[in-house]
Amino acid sequence: MNRQVTLIPRDQHPISRKQISTSALRVLYRLHEEGYAAFLVGGAVRDALAGIAPKDFDIATDATPEQVRGLFRNCRLIGRRFRLAHVVFGREIIEVATFRGQSDDGTGDRQVHQDGRVIRDNVYGTIEEDAARRDFTANALYYNIADFSIHDYVGGFEDVRARRLRLIGSPDDRYREDPVRMLRAARLAAKLQFDISPETAEPIPRLASLLTQAAPARLFDECLKLFLSGHAVRSFEGLERMGLLAVLLPDTAKALKSNSNGSLKAMLLRGLAQTDERVARGDSVSPAFLFSLLLWPAWCRTKAQLEANGMHAAEAQQRAADKVTLQQVHLIAIPRRFSMPMQEIWLLQSRFSQRKRVGRLVAHPRFRAAYDFFKLRADTGASHAEDAAFWASQVVETPGEQGETNWDIAVDDAPPRTRKRRRRSGPTS
Ligand code: ATP
Ligand code: MG
Repeated sequence: MNRQVTLIPRDQHPISRKQISTSALRVLYRLHEEGYAAFLVGGAVRDALAGIAPKDFDIATDATPEQVRGLFRNCRLIGRRFRLAHVVFGREIIEVATFRGQSDDGTGDRQVHQDGRVIRDNVYGTIEEDAARRDFTANALYYNIADFSIHDYVGGFEDVRARRLRLIGSPDDRYREDPVRMLRAARLAAKLQFDISPETAEPIPRLASLLTQAAPARLFDECLKLFLSGHAVRSFEGLERMGLLAVLLPDTAKALKSNSNGSLKAMLLRGLAQTDERVARGDSVSPAFLFSLLLWPAWCRTKAQLEANGMHAAEAQQRAADKVTLQQVHLIAIPRRFSMPMQEIWLLQSRFSQRKRVGRLVAHPRFRAAYDFFKLRADTGASHAEDAAFWASQVVETPGEQGETNWDIAVDDAPPRTRKRRRRSGPTS
């Protein structure tokens, strides 16, 4: 494929080296000194142009992974399917990828599944090809360390300026290749406050159900990025608008639909807004609390159904928790270390209206998270106001240990770069 490149010289774009981490600059300069092409690419360029501080830095080069390893002592190669170099500086990892090819020219070992998903590919290519296989034009901009210009093969520079997300190529094909791109569209639109261009938005409601084919572990990672990055409310609203919520959280979507007074949704949105506030303040956030919130409507609905069928309330609570969890993990692989505390948060809720065995509840390791959850419920539905006041007094009297653990249920989530799954080409499964 021959694409015309647009070069945006340093004096016509706002990216400065001050926005790039020193580690990334070191890698870029080293590659450049050795005569290799060295570009900053992807989210970092996009974010810097959009006026957001980039959080991780990806580099694209024409050096092979082995050549990259030869240049850096602190370098390891990862990935079997497509090899990448990670250059490690303490906690920071700079990912260096060799330009990847279109790989459908018979030279690689690309295999396409019947339904259009790419399941294997493994060839190096030119920078133009590397650009063409990225998802959105805004994600396919290359900042050249040689002269600080930006190389644009797909019109991404103009799209960022217009605050617009646009898929490269045929949107239908690109979503079929990798349905997670639909979630990425929703997430990046929420994060950047960009519009999704009409052609890129149009297929989403129609193809949303393809998401059920994505790898559940990848959907879990994607959920954390959607809801624990400071734009959870916008993410939720976008998912709902595009018909993705009903696929991602089907039981919750059904419950919200049948909740005529809207109280469940009000609570959910308030909880997500609080999550966003916590992220903005730099406070910890927890996947367990997040999923207890996202799946609460599903749990309430399932419990009510079981009770309507004559099951005793206490048993219905537990059974609903198991049922909702089981159904959801098929789609989103919520690890047990999060789904267990998520269930505990639900199951503790009924204890707050009993006010019995107060000391024991307060001493429960999940008390603080469950209390926060309860308060959220009380704040969005008048009926629990008195109970909430009672438990608030208990919280004040029990500072210390539980006091701060609140959302920190096993917070090893904040994905360090090593946990990130690289899926430029679509799922393997
Ligand atoms: P952020 O880091 O804010 O989550 P990002 O765009 O950097 O967003 P990454 O997952 O870090 O997301 O991906 C880095 C780059 O890899 C993207 O900018 C894009 O160019 C490319 N990419 C990622 N996922 C895909 C995909 N599913 N299809 C095509 N290209 C992708
Ligand atoms: Mg990134």
